[in-house]
Amino acid sequence: MRKFNTVKTFSNNPALDERRFLFEVVGISNQGSNNLDYPIRQSGRSFIAVPYSRMNQEMNRINRLGGKIINITPIGINTPIQGQGLSSSSNQTTNTKPMTQAQEKKEVKVPVNIYRPKNPFVGKCIENYELVAEGGSGTVRHLTFDLSGGDLHYLEGQSIGIIPPGEDERGKPHKLRLYSIASTRHGDKLDDKTVSLCVRKLEYENEKGEAIEGVCSSFLCGLEEGADVSITGPVGKEMLLPDEEDATIVMLATGTGIAPFRAFLWRMFKEQEQNPDYQFKGLAWLVFGIPYTENILYKEELEKMAKEYPDHFRLTYAISREQKTADGGKMYVQSRVSEYADELFELIQKPKTHVYMCGLKGMEPPITETFTAEAEKRGINWDDMRKQMKKEDRWHVEVY
Ligand code: NAP
Repeated sequence: MRKFNTVKTFSNNPALDERRFLFEVVGISNQGSNNLDYPIRQSGRSFIAVPYSRMNQEMNRINRLGGKIINITPIGINTPIQGQGLSSSSNQTTNTKPMTQAQEKKEVKVPVNIYRPKNPFVGKCIENYELVAEGGSGTVRHLTFDLSGGDLHYLEGQSIGIIPPGEDERGKPHKLRLYSIASTRHGDKLDDKTVSLCVRKLEYENEKGEAIEGVCSSFLCGLEEGADVSITGPVGKEMLLPDEEDATIVMLATGTGIAPFRAFLWRMFKEQEQNPDYQFKGLAWLVFGIPYTENILYKEELEKMAKEYPDHFRLTYAISREQKTADGGKMYVQSRVSEYADELFELIQKPKTHVYMCGLKGMEPPITETFTAEAEKRGINWDDMRKQMKKEDRWHVEVY
């Protein structure tokens, strides 16, 4: 664990002096002789926002209370500290530009690398079931791991690493593979103690005609309930869901690229009770590309949500081996984007619209082409607009 000693807290730079840092603290007690003017939880972690100029003072206070600082993250000057266990030791305000909610989230609450490859968390598989219906192509499994006894927590849109057991052909332990998390921060059991993945078993023929199976995906897809799994992470800040409840969230997915969007949609439509501070009232639009109807992962739940929330969730499939485009081509995610180009482009010009892409790399260039043409029609340069969206945390791409 990193040790945080005192830091030099004076500088000639007023901007630096105004900066704030979020202290993540464990083992602190509220009893005794402290005069803290902010609430602190007695068990688990506490978060304290501290101005740069008071860092030493706060470190000393925390030490006095028997607490341990396990992480220090810089936060924005105007960032309102919110959320569970968060407290502020300062009422400082300045006139710098306020951050978007997605940026705040990135800087304030995103957990990363709680477990690293040298010291992974060993969880247990508690669920492993098939997601492809009879007649569909290949094997895709929904897996859930128990995280009890550890400190692994994560946000929707992040990934975890899995280290498969055994060694590679050079006799070295296998390297970790990253998988997008498919569950919300509360986990499928809603107890904040599980994480779920959606994994396709990689199977292909090499140049010699030999059948090859993916090392990690085969290990995961074949896991028995109760088996151990070495987990690292979480990692990733690219695919986070904004806090704004009235945002428009456009999700473009192929196959197992649905994983982060399952987490988003579950948070929006299935866990309202768990999240009093996040009651989604915007629009979520999922365009989902799969080869066959039988390959529609989480089909029943997706369709149920679309039926229950017709004003807030729109579900569009692109079933490549069953549906055809108007000109007789294969129906891909990008074909749907081009079909709804005008409507989508009108949406993405709005400041609260976020676009997410997850899955196959091949979908990105044709989608860029469509948006370039739509932008041109309106006298806009798409490249500039996309860069601006990226700056505003409204353009999110994670494709392989
Ligand atoms: P799958 O079930 O085989 O479905 C993939 C769909 O995409 C099929 O309908 C396929 O159509 C279509 N497709 C093929 N080429 C395409 C192209 N150039 N543009 C758009 N669509 C295309 O999917 P999968 O096996 O789960 O694969 C999903 C991919 O996403 C994998 O490569 C995986 O590594 C990646 N992935 C990335 C992330 C991430 O970045 N975080 C997370 C999860 C998965 P046809 O086969 O009929 O041509």
